Amino acid sequence: MMPKTGFSSSDCEQDSIPIQHDIPDESENQFEALTNATIMMVDDEPINIDMVKMFLEEEGYKHFITTHDSTQALDLIANNQPDVVLLDLMMPDVNGFEILQSIRADKQLKRTPVIILTSSTDADTKLKALRLGANDFLGKPVDPSELVLRIRNTLAAKVYQDRLAYFDALTNLPNRKTFMSHLDWSLRRAKLDNLSGAVLKLDLDRFKDVNDTLGSDVGDMLLKEISQRLKESIRCSDTVGWFGKDKSKTSLCRIGGNEFSVLFPEIKHIEDIEPIAQRILQAIEPPCHPRQHELYITISIGISVFPQDGSDINTLIKHADIAISHAKQQGGNNFQFYSDEINNQSVEQLKLTNQLRKASDRKELELFYQPKVDANTGKITGAEALMRWNHPKLGLVSPGIFIPLAEKSGLLPDLDDWAFHTTCQQLIDWQTSGLSPIPVSVNVTSQSFRNGRVVKTVREALKITGLDPKYIKLELTESTIMDNAEENIKLLYRLKDLGIKLSIDDFGTGYSSLSYLNRFPLDELKIDQSFISGILTESSNLVIVKAIIAMAHSLGLHVIAEGVETNEQLTTIQDLNCTEYQGYLFSKPIPSKDFQKLRNIEESE
Ligand code: C2E
Ligand code: CA
Ligand code: CA
Repeated sequence: MMPKTGFSSSDCEQDSIPIQHDIPDESENQFEALTNATIMMVDDEPINIDMVKMFLEEEGYKHFITTHDSTQALDLIANNQPDVVLLDLMMPDVNGFEILQSIRADKQLKRTPVIILTSSTDADTKLKALRLGANDFLGKPVDPSELVLRIRNTLAAKVYQDRLAYFDALTNLPNRKTFMSHLDWSLRRAKLDNLSGAVLKLDLDRFKDVNDTLGSDVGDMLLKEISQRLKESIRCSDTVGWFGKDKSKTSLCRIGGNEFSVLFPEIKHIEDIEPIAQRILQAIEPPCHPRQHELYITISIGISVFPQDGSDINTLIKHADIAISHAKQQGGNNFQFYSDEINNQSVEQLKLTNQLRKASDRKELELFYQPKVDANTGKITGAEALMRWNHPKLGLVSPGIFIPLAEKSGLLPDLDDWAFHTTCQQLIDWQTSGLSPIPVSVNVTSQSFRNGRVVKTVREALKITGLDPKYIKLELTESTIMDNAEENIKLLYRLKDLGIKLSIDDFGTGYSSLSYLNRFPLDELKIDQSFISGILTESSNLVIVKAIIAMAHSLGLHVIAEGVETNEQLTTIQDLNCTEYQGYLFSKPIPSKDFQKLRNIEESE
């Protein structure tokens, strides 16, 4: 039975929700699931009601709502949302035609199946009921087998319709419509009964990359696997049930492409949500294997709590979205509660993102160059191009701030294109000014790499500038090329075929598979600066750096240490046979003019 809500369905803007308990899967016993249905009977003669109820109880049906007072019928239907109504036509006060008409006119109830009970054999009566939207007829006196058959067929049709309307075909989870309806219901009940609840919005990190690179069928399989894990992780909770008619239980829905939601209609303490969010993150952690691909997927969770964070649907969803964005900014794979502070930050970031959109046209972007240095001779061997944003008010904004914004807003591939073109042109300009050419590295993010866009960028920039490709190097982080490594091999070869060099950046932070490293056409390996910064203080760092250098050499890769800040660090890496470094010890990233001066001095020595 539905809990009593104290408000009628006509208050509710949302469509009615599916009324079967668990919508049965093909594998489940369909008939057993149908007997969970709630059957309503409206007949002015109590004896008829008792007879029908008795027949149906013998068939296993358990949930009945009955009335012989036809004036009560509509309210009862609205408050209980039965799965099927057995409706007598000839009744005093309000007759069956009028009730049927009202049901069909009500936004919430109009889909409720109605079977007309009538002793009339008159065709006009039946036609009139049909025109008003009756689903079926049953002659009086009721024949038990006919009754059971009609009920079963009507319910089976309803289950099918509910599945289409309220469930997501891919994952079998309730869909957005159902979520909205449940949330609406929960908010109303919370208001009346002074309850608190929570909305969790879950968003798969980088799902678009999977769809773009591996195709939507792999994406679909991934979503199915993830939804199964979500289901299990939420089911484990003892506070949580599986929703159906009982809307007071927690429900998991798929509300968009890669978006899910969990609704907790009733929570005692906000802190109770934390372990559940934690469990969801853990459930997603192990690799997924759609069509033999091994994918490490993470999820970001945004949480808004009612009534604190909003008492209407739109505000709560908006606030959960803001919390998700915050979770994504923290690198994904975490959960965040909405707060005013997050909200203010998000407003600021939105402003900054809009300004970033125009930064390139306004010539506010600039590349700085950080020298790469020969560890033994101290001579400049190359450089890395690093982007800076000259913000009119904020001054020099670091990529640590604007790259994540660009990534989130889809601007990053454009920025990467710009950096690559600009670097190629800079190299030509330096050569024209008389400097001997040295290789310069440009960073490429996974967003530009995964969909192969980088190949086009490199080809076009080389063609336009006429630069010899051997002087340009792409830096790709370890995680960019290890995620979906098999596919990336082809992409890396396409880049290599253009004559450029390839470097694996931030090495040691991801989980490289040695067999893949061997198969990638790489030229250089950059040891992540976190290992160099602790190389003198933590013995494990020294051991790791030593192992990385030995491995790089055995794979025939050139190895370079990042983030060298002190002479002691330099001596240590020299002792380990690392012959090149980059770091503040020699120079911070500097504007192109300064870099040119530095090189001019060196060349004139
Ligand atoms: P990254 O590619 O690992 O770049 C190295 C970062 O380490 C740079 O930070 C550099 O300034 C900093 N660094 C170099 N030597 C030292 C040192 O001795 N000590 C310390 N503490 N830091 C050092 P930056 O320029 O702030 O860039 C941060 C990140 O932003 C880069 O990390 C890269 O991932 C990204 N990035 C920068 N420019 C671009 C770009 O043009 N395109 C793309 N896609 N990403 C970029
Ligand atoms: Ca880099
Ligand atoms: Ca790096």
